[in-house]
Amino acid sequence: MELKVFRKGFNHSQDGPGNRLVYHLQGCNMRCTWCSNPEGIAMDGVLMVKNEDLIDGVCPHGAITGKTLDREICLRCAARECVTLNRNQGIQFSAQVWDVEAIVNEAKRSIPLFYDGGGVTLSGGEATVQFEALRLLLQRLKEEGIHTAIETNGSHPRLRELFPLIDYLIIDFKHHDDSRLKEGTGVGNLVIKRNVAQALSCHQQLLIRIPLIAHFNDSDVDAEHFAAFFRQFDTGHACFEFITYHEYGKDKWAQCGMPYRFKDGFVDEKTLAQFQTVFQSSQLDVIHT
Ligand code: SF4
Repeated sequence: MELKVFRKGFNHSQDGPGNRLVYHLQGCNMRCTWCSNPEGIAMDGVLMVKNEDLIDGVCPHGAITGKTLDREICLRCAARECVTLNRNQGIQFSAQVWDVEAIVNEAKRSIPLFYDGGGVTLSGGEATVQFEALRLLLQRLKEEGIHTAIETNGSHPRLRELFPLIDYLIIDFKHHDDSRLKEGTGVGNLVIKRNVAQALSCHQQLLIRIPLIAHFNDSDVDAEHFAAFFRQFDTGHACFEFITYHEYGKDKWAQCGMPYRFKDGFVDEKTLAQFQTVFQSSQLDVIHT
């Protein structure tokens, strides 16, 4: 079985414990306009273009003129010689197809590097969009004794089926309000809330991440609503982390040929402190990874 991956690399304790090999799986069901990995959104992948490095000769179909790519021509191009035959710096294709067993073998070779309790993290995009291949990969990693983590937006209706295969579960919980989440991402939060409730009831290693984004979810009232939702549950074994809005992925939107429309998303230190205070006063364990 195969998986599409758009990026991989090591990090330490940012996406699970210890030193980890992180695979970013292609495709996402949400459409967050502030996304920092826009190349991971489309299920089939996207051409990423650095205009300054474009070379006419790599395209036999005339799609490149000077430092401009005509993506309309690319839409009709199945061969994609610019990335298959004429590899170059100017154009990359985001999605790479991996056999599940090839990832398992790479993870096995990396075991000496998984120090401090590390292992493999499957992130996105949204990792659960490739549900069956993801499940097989998690199964195989567990069979090999490799610590597993996933980072998910929590919206897959069958997420719970994966819990026994996930040692460390990271759920991004972007909004407490269903209609506001739908406005911001195209997906409501009813399934997400159910998955979070189930995870809180049965998963021992759980990190809930809340992105703080101005004019979307950062008001004092929002802080109270977020905390009120989590106060319903026994959160004794869960941790919470706030990730403040950033624009690290902004340049990639242009490379993907998509306009970056989100504006004024930065939140200040006072807002972050307010959320931390509200959560801590609700006995919700706030951490920073
Ligand atoms: S995808 Fe096809 S048409 Fe577009 S630049 Fe590459 S080779 Fe040319």
